Parts: sequence; C-alpha cells; structure tokens
Amino acid sequence: MSQAWSQVSGVLDSAVRELDELDTALERVATGDYGICRRCGRAIDPARLDARPAAALCIDCARLAG
Ligand SMILES: [Zn+2]
Repeated sequence: MSQAWSQVSGVLDSAVRELDELDTALERVATGDYGICRRCGRAIDPARLDARPAAALCIDCARLAG
C-alpha cells in the first residue's frame, strides 16, 4: 500500500508542478511575455513550445540550467 501511495503521490506532485507552470505560462500570456525566454530574453523555439507549452526558458538556457 505504501508503494502504491508513493506512486500516486509522485504523480500528484508532478501534476501540481505542471499546473504551477501552466499558471505561470498563463500569466506570461497576459503580460505579453509568453514565448520569451525568462533568462536571456530571446524568443523560445515554437517547436519547443509545442512540446512544452509552459516552458519559460529557451532550449539553450534550459540546458544550462540543467
Ligand atoms: Zn534563453
């Protein structure tokens, strides 16, 4: 039971994190910053936004940030 719970809890954790990211992404849509890298200020590759709509960093910065 505890193993199943830790699986459920892990899924919940990542769902909550994704919701947080989407929330932030929506705020960025509202302020006009969506699709702009938060670190270097360059446009984020549209293909990356397709794969990760909540991405706040361009691929280069995301790689640097680990
Ligand atoms: Zn960047």
